[in-house]
Amino acid sequence: MSARTHLLLLALLGAASPAFPAETPLASLPYTPGLDVSAMDKSADPCIDFYRFACGGWMKNNPIPPDESRWSVYGKMARENQRFLWGILDALAKSRAGRSATQQKIGDYFAACMDEAAVEKSGGRPLKPHLERIFAMKSKRDLPAVLARLHLVTGSSDLFFVFSSNQDFADSTSVIAFAESGGLGLPDRDFYTKDDDKSKELRTRYAAHVARTFGLLGDPPEAARREAAKVMEIETKLALASLTRTQRRDPYQLFHKMDAAGLKALTPGFDWDVYLKTAGLSRLNVFNVTEPEFFKELDRQLQSLGLADIKTYLRWHAAHATAPFLSSAFVNEDFDFFGRTLYGIPELKPRWKRCVKWVDAQLGEALGEEFVNRAFSPELKRKTLHMTKQIEQAMRDELAALEWMSAATKQKALEKLHAIVNKIGYPDKWRDYGSVEVRRNDFFGKAERANLFESRRRLAKIGKPLDRGEWSMTPPTVNAYYNPQMNDINFAAGVLQPPLYDPKMDDAPNYGNTGGTIGHELTHGFDDHGRHFDAQGNLRDWWTEKDAKEFNDRAQCIVDQYAQYTVVDDIRINSRLTEGEDIADLGGLVLAWLAWKAETANARPESRDGFTPEQRFFVGYAQWACEHHRPEDLRARALTDAHSPGKYRVNGLVVNMPEFERAFSCRAGQPMVRENRCRVW
Ligand SMILES: [Zn+2]
Repeated sequence: MSARTHLLLLALLGAASPAFPAETPLASLPYTPGLDVSAMDKSADPCIDFYRFACGGWMKNNPIPPDESRWSVYGKMARENQRFLWGILDALAKSRAGRSATQQKIGDYFAACMDEAAVEKSGGRPLKPHLERIFAMKSKRDLPAVLARLHLVTGSSDLFFVFSSNQDFADSTSVIAFAESGGLGLPDRDFYTKDDDKSKELRTRYAAHVARTFGLLGDPPEAARREAAKVMEIETKLALASLTRTQRRDPYQLFHKMDAAGLKALTPGFDWDVYLKTAGLSRLNVFNVTEPEFFKELDRQLQSLGLADIKTYLRWHAAHATAPFLSSAFVNEDFDFFGRTLYGIPELKPRWKRCVKWVDAQLGEALGEEFVNRAFSPELKRKTLHMTKQIEQAMRDELAALEWMSAATKQKALEKLHAIVNKIGYPDKWRDYGSVEVRRNDFFGKAERANLFESRRRLAKIGKPLDRGEWSMTPPTVNAYYNPQMNDINFAAGVLQPPLYDPKMDDAPNYGNTGGTIGHELTHGFDDHGRHFDAQGNLRDWWTEKDAKEFNDRAQCIVDQYAQYTVVDDIRINSRLTEGEDIADLGGLVLAWLAWKAETANARPESRDGFTPEQRFFVGYAQWACEHHRPEDLRARALTDAHSPGKYRVNGLVVNMPEFERAFSCRAGQPMVRENRCRVW
């Protein structure tokens, strides 16, 4: 074969190259050990750079794939899950016989999504009904109805504001309407406010992308440029009136309960009656307006903008929200800015990957049921639940022994800990997608009907009894979360797999890794955000003034420490934003250590692979965090991600643990040994 045809073939196969072999569906999940010696760099000194020692090999062996902005142990697992789900969906799409009603829905959804020729043929036409409705607006009075419909079918938070449901901060058993800030195309309000050269350049490129999108809608270049400038102007005003992510960590800043008259008084220029009626909600009289100042600014905007400008804004956001579901002209334009420019990703993800992601996003529990049946054993559930109980016991002991907390606050903290519900793997009751109609054609319509189902499902919760069994993460997701209002920790089945939790491995790395994560989620109930909620999930101050101050002093130590770390170029960690996660990382591993020591009190753990059990505990911890990023990704995440980069989640943590210093016989003065250690729990 000549070099030329070979190159041509490579191009046809897409991303295939020795470093990135062509991806295929997986029949089972591949096994990676919980402590992977080949992922280490033993030439590094653990007392100088522990992250390199534990992850150096992983970084060398795992370059960032061309369709990713970063690559990590979690990301790699998520990719393997996707390939596994691809196999399931492909089979359900092909064999139509013997499928259950739910299998029919996800199989046909996937088939329609993969029919790229049909999607291509329909071009931008599926967007037309929305554009026509916007075009037909005769006055600003028509806005509430048009906007409500767009909110329902796009599920987007980018159209002026967000309207959804949530538990009342004051009474966690009751679900009320939430009106929240939104309306931006860029991922955070700070993208509009920062005035360094890189931020300015990014805004210029964003405006160019908005203009090109108007071009795809048929507008001539000069008009498209003017329209993009108008969009920028509106979004910038909304951004300036929005709270920062750091401010949003304080739940008291987001709690402004009011009746319908109060809501109307905030935005006299917007007819809420029409909006709510179109959204299928009438007679609502309790609202939490998370950011009243934002809604005042929104009202000023709506009063001062002309009808044509409002239409311009709506057309951009209708196209922006739906672009990924349209033909390649829209998909590529969307990727060019939101993938390539913003996050530095060289290549668009192949179609199958996007389709798997959408089934997960739109019919996630139907797909999750298939995943769990194949990849999550009762044994795994039993073992991880046992570990959770051990970590909870460690936290009880730790709280009881805590020197800085008074008996009164301890009592309340123990009550809260006792009330935390552990949700492991998947929901007890699967979501019923019965009312979502899925046919094999019309991919765009299918996506809209799924959005409509989800929007209505959320709004229907208002005024109904709270469903405590609900999950806000799908089972294949490689992640976990704590919800302060539910007061529960949730571990998706996808995160309880090797190499994070490895039933074949000894306790040391498992406790370091998954044990650390369980402890992390538990302590979120007591971090700078979670501590404001009580055992019932209500926003209520149960701390004595002195204890709150003691907590804040200890948290400040971590805030000051992480503020020193550089993310990329001259950007440091915004450690007020990452405070809760940094506290949870340290607290979580302290608890995991105590739980592991208790679990193995009567055993004599052995050295393996040349490492003591204590060393294996720490390497096990570090190896969940092996990752690397493209610089654009680091820059964007510095503004949006509440987590510190993996390197600091490891090195910034071990410097605070004397157990680490002892495990590796480090000496005072070495980089991984800190003189003034931070400790909260
Ligand atoms: Zn967390």
